[in-house]
Amino acid sequence: MAKIKLHLGDITQLNVDAIVNAANNSLLGGGGVDGAIHRAAGPDLLDFCRTLNGCETGQAKITPAFNLPCRYVIHTVGPIWRGGHNDEPELLQSCYVKCLELARKHKLKTLAFPAISCGIYRYPITEAAKLCIRTIHEEVSQNSGSLETVFLVSFDASMQRIYEQTLVNFTTS
Ligand code: ADP
Repeated sequence: MAKIKLHLGDITQLNVDAIVNAANNSLLGGGGVDGAIHRAAGPDLLDFCRTLNGCETGQAKITPAFNLPCRYVIHTVGPIWRGGHNDEPELLQSCYVKCLELARKHKLKTLAFPAISCGIYRYPITEAAKLCIRTIHEEVSQNSGSLETVFLVSFDASMQRIYEQTLVNFTTS
């Protein structure tokens, strides 16, 4: 079964098979991790994304990584938090599931997720961390396929602490 590992740092620097981008519906770049990924990948990524006709919330699309050290970028669009009664959990769960499906389809071994929706989209981070870890665990225990390691990347220490605590509670419950 694939392992879940935590990593603190900039996802654009990771030498994994694919990194996940927390994109917006246009797939034409934005702030946060999306901006960082486009800056590091170079303008060819934006040109490629223009051919994709956007992406629905909860779905995912894969592209080459251009100048990034990884091989692919999987772009997914998390929900904007609007209080929790607008399918936010289902949509966030779908992001993780669709990214993992694409990773297995492309026979990837290593995949790195940022904390989807936890920045500009304001999803409560404790809830997002629980959902993320539960979903990835369910998915890889049913069918890891090629996947060996799934990294959960935090950009700041407080996100990392929440993932650590969530993993501890998850494995001891
Ligand atoms: P969203 O719009 O889905 O909320 P954001 O990019 O605003 O996406 O934030 C998602 C998460 O990614 C946040 O926890 C933010 O701190 C984190 N983040 C921002 N830049 C990077 C980066 N370069 N590497 C890893 N994580 C990042």
